[in-house]
Amino acid sequence: MRIAIAGCGQLARMLALAGWEMGHQFVFIADPGENTDCVNGLGDVVYRDDTMSGGALYDELGRPDVVTVEKEHVSVPMLESLSDHCLVAPSPEAIRICQHRGREKTLLQSLGIATAPFHVVDSSQTLIEAVETVGYPAFVKSCEQGYDGQNQWLIKDSESLEILAGRMETLPDLVVEGRVNFDRELSLIAVRSTRGEIATYPLSENRHREGILLTSQVPAPHVSQATTAQAEAIAHSLLTHWSYVGVLSIELFDEAGVLRVNELAPRVHNSGHWSQDAGVTSQFANHLRALTGVIPGETQPAHFAGMLNLLGRSPAPHLLQANDVSLHWYTKSIRQRRKVGHINLQAADRVTLEQRLAALEAELYPQGEPL
Ligand code: AMP
Repeated sequence: MRIAIAGCGQLARMLALAGWEMGHQFVFIADPGENTDCVNGLGDVVYRDDTMSGGALYDELGRPDVVTVEKEHVSVPMLESLSDHCLVAPSPEAIRICQHRGREKTLLQSLGIATAPFHVVDSSQTLIEAVETVGYPAFVKSCEQGYDGQNQWLIKDSESLEILAGRMETLPDLVVEGRVNFDRELSLIAVRSTRGEIATYPLSENRHREGILLTSQVPAPHVSQATTAQAEAIAHSLLTHWSYVGVLSIELFDEAGVLRVNELAPRVHNSGHWSQDAGVTSQFANHLRALTGVIPGETQPAHFAGMLNLLGRSPAPHLLQANDVSLHWYTKSIRQRRKVGHINLQAADRVTLEQRLAALEAELYPQGEPL
């Protein structure tokens, strides 16, 4: 099939690499000025132009069978106009909700899914009231355009609250969240096909550094059946609510076995990259299978898998000579904190996986070094 992907970053690259093996062809929709290095050689690139009608864009894309997305900020009106011509998956509506933390949390609440206590605010007065209600420290996040800890403020006391309140006129809508005293961060990668078949990968335990994902470990250690059941119930509820098609990624806080959703991503996700080398159908292949009406492939690895992000650095060649690692390089230029690749690891047992992840991390990020 011919598949159009809105966005030209590393997720588009890895989707296309998986899809070429399945006999698909790709075309990428770039925003004006967007860097397309990651998708070089993997398909044509069409630059989006707001004056173009949905029909004209559809023709320019070579009349794809399906359009999907690889990043958060995609024009929803563009997706809606393309949906008059072919399948757009996930739906523009699911993408619209997930682009805005306030809308997303309100939907989760309406489905009875637990989140951090939250308030959406748009003035200094409502900001102050919300922080006073949730208490210190409060996490204040912009509703839109925030990822990897960007556009977020940790408000620890009334002075920092006053400073932020003083800037409110220059800020977009915000969501104020009470702190969740979580033990760890987990994520669930789920997939639903056009035919309604659902599959989930095991929960991944994720560690962050300076707000950016650093490592994932699968299956997450010490997960009770009840916790898995909670995560799967959350996924089923969202997937069926939207009649969702494709991969949906759910970031979770685990507080003594009780899960709260931190954030949703209506696309493949960094915490699912381990699936590329763990002897299962990767999240990328399963996303494409879902879009093209093929039953999801295997999601349960026989062994243990891990992932370590390469943030602003490339690995020394000797690290890649071990036979338990695979490098995924995004062909981006290296900049501080930038995700430029990741290393997947496989191990027969958890102790080995944890030791190897720690050893790789220590080589790549000597202790105390800021990103
Ligand atoms: P986010 O951009 O929402 O994923 O937040 C970045 C990171 O900040 C998360 O991965 C958590 O480690 C932390 N964080 C965000 N919101 C909260 C919260 N309400 N309570 C505790 N920690 C949080």
